Amino acid sequence: MNRVKHRPRRASFTPGRVRGMRAAATVALAYAAFAGPLACAADAQPIAIVIHGGAGVINRAEMSPEREARYRAGLEAARDAGYAVLERGGTSLEAVVAAVRLLEDDPMFNAGRGAVLNRDGDVELDASLMDGGTLRAGAVASLRHVKNPIELAKLVMEKSSHVMLVGAGAEEFALSQGLTLVPNDYFQTETRLRQLERAQKAASEKASGKQETSATQGPRSGIIGEAQPAQPRVAARASAHASTFAEIGATGTVGAVALDRNGHLAAATSTGGMTNKLPGRVGDSPIIGAGTYANDESCAVSATGDGEFFIRSVVAHDVCALVAYRQMPLARAAHQVIHEKIGGLKATGGVIALDRQGNIVMEFNSEGMFRAARDSRGRKDVAIYADR
Ligand code: ASP
Repeated sequence: MNRVKHRPRRASFTPGRVRGMRAAATVALAYAAFAGPLACAADAQPIAIVIHGGAGVINRAEMSPEREARYRAGLEAARDAGYAVLERGGTSLEAVVAAVRLLEDDPMFNAGRGAVLNRDGDVELDASLMDGGTLRAGAVASLRHVKNPIELAKLVMEKSSHVMLVGAGAEEFALSQGLTLVPNDYFQTETRLRQLERAQKAASEKASGKQETSATQGPRSGIIGEAQPAQPRVAARASAHASTFAEIGATGTVGAVALDRNGHLAAATSTGGMTNKLPGRVGDSPIIGAGTYANDESCAVSATGDGEFFIRSVVAHDVCALVAYRQMPLARAAHQVIHEKIGGLKATGGVIALDRQGNIVMEFNSEGMFRAARDSRGRKDVAIYADR
């Protein structure tokens, strides 16, 4: 092989050359002083966190300025707690847990303390998280006593050989791991009790209206295997969806997605589910792929909305799959899933999502979504409605 040897060239230091070099060095130094920090910031791995406090009916007329200020303060505090973890070099997983934990402790949001009540007036909590770097995940459902379900989801991921634990078994595991267990009434608030009463009243009024209609259609058979007329079945499905109780915060969920200094993504979601749900009902939030998903190869997603529809549409994974398999930009993928797929089913909700480049997406088809974002490029915002 013909190797070219590099011989150091002799420099000739004439006075004119030295002057020229000095001038060039001064210009270079001045440029470095001015552009250096900007160039570094642009080159560095961005860090980012996005959080949500649920999507749904957020009617401005029903929202007092005080209430709105409390929502915004809660979102800001959770966003900044997660961002602080990222800023001091913590992992995206630690950041999403820090943010969600605060939202669980804030009675304004439907997760942890202040969660919605089920049909019997009890709180049942679901949560999950996923680490995009390792694809490890943890999930818990139907908890009645664990103060911070997201912490238990993390322990299931890290300290058990399983992905999901539910009910009494999950709470036994929580005890064995030294987590704080509290009586169910720790979670219950007066606001949620009133909300349950209104939901049950609305449901019984709807049911009595339906009874009158079906009485005019004649009796139907309840025997399994006996043919049912097609029309009433479709109507029953539509009315089950329409009966979702429409009031600020009657649904909702909290969640966070983050990108850390090492370029790893994570997602976390926690919820009390839906007001007046049947005891034992589990929504999309603790289902990996439906309510929560993270993969460094594509994106991190946390969802909120009509859980049954989000489960059937495998929303969080669907967004990431469009990014991974179709190379779709994250914003387009989220838009397609929320507006075409979920919207096409006449369901409502939204997602927050992040990719490794730090692209932030907050997409919803409902009136509003409690949300906030912050990143190392200078973005720092909180919003509730579509326009602010
Ligand atoms: N997705 C949640 C659930 O179905 C509720 C919500 O986000 O509004 O449990």
